[in-house]
Amino acid sequence: MPECRHTAQIHKVTPSALGCEECLKTHSRWVHLRLCRTCGHVGCCDSSPNRHATKHFHATKHPIIEGYDPPEGWGWCYVDESEVALDEPTPQRGPIPRWV
Ligand SMILES: [Zn+2]
Ligand SMILES: [Zn+2]
Ligand SMILES: [Zn+2]
Repeated sequence: MPECRHTAQIHKVTPSALGCEECLKTHSRWVHLRLCRTCGHVGCCDSSPNRHATKHFHATKHPIIEGYDPPEGWGWCYVDESEVALDEPTPQRGPIPRWV
């Protein structure tokens, strides 16, 4: 497994939304949430129909996401395809809205 070369891009961020930003706008569903540790964008995982976290990476090249529902303390680098240890998981800003 390659070691991540992007740890300098891990920042303390404020989550941009309580759930996946784009899914909340379009009333879509998600399975899990991913938080961008470069800018705070909240997107949905690759098991979700819209895969907004991966789309965010392709659009912005922000490499590192954190598992976000609940914050689990693990990170993932899209570029190196390797796990990244995060010292401080990002606290949730509030209750995560769930679709019914
Ligand atoms: Zn990396
Ligand atoms: Zn989404
Ligand atoms: Zn980002």
